Amino acid sequence: MDERTRENLRANLESVEHRIQQACVRAGRSRADVTLVAVTKTVTAEIAAALVELGVVNLGENRPQELWRKADLLPKEVQWHLIGHLQRNKIERTLPLVEWIHAVDSVRLLHALEEAAANQQRRPRVLLEVNASGEATKQGFALTEAAGLAPTIEALTHLHVCGLMTMAAPIEPEACRPTFRSLRNLRDTLQREVSNHRLDHLSMGMSNDFEIAIEEGATYIRLGTVLFESRD
Ligand SMILES: *Cc1c(COP(=O)(O)O)cnc(C)c1O
Repeated sequence: MDERTRENLRANLESVEHRIQQACVRAGRSRADVTLVAVTKTVTAEIAAALVELGVVNLGENRPQELWRKADLLPKEVQWHLIGHLQRNKIERTLPLVEWIHAVDSVRLLHALEEAAANQQRRPRVLLEVNASGEATKQGFALTEAAGLAPTIEALTHLHVCGLMTMAAPIEPEACRPTFRSLRNLRDTLQREVSNHRLDHLSMGMSNDFEIAIEEGATYIRLGTVLFESRD
């Protein structure tokens, strides 16, 4: 990788870090409560490794196979986040590699993960994906469906259900605020009904809208484009 690419990455990261801090200040939140997950799906393992050298150790991929491939090439200090759909036939191979599974989008998948976690004696952290923007084409539980999941969550003893995840529509950032707010409200409602899992986390905010997501309580933001785009 050439020096210019590395410098570009460093400058993007610095600018993103500044914007994260400013959003935390506006929201009266601590910077330590927001974790940046760098989404490396569009870049090579080499560029992902350069980011790790710059101190970003939380990396996300949306396809299991690509996560397996990069996990094999990158240092062991990386904490991997699967942020896209997980097919049930890929659970067994994915579980040992990931710290977080962000997009659990059906009860069937939840139960398959619970069974695999029991078999492998692991306690993976999972987030439930909610289609909080209500777009017809989008994966995830509908808001009303998710609101009824408390008994299902409570019955899980091998998974750590840690919260909720959503993707806002690709619209003007300020217009994404209601989506993020409804995810947080849903989390609050579910937490009142669930006693054996702490739903502390909200994975929301991408390049387009991460500052609004932080203002609305995001604990994990998932950024690709703003980190890897060319500055010239
Ligand atoms: C690609 C992707 C991201 C990152 O999107 P950018 O707009 O490039 O920041 C975040 N979350 C998910 C689920 C993705 O697939």
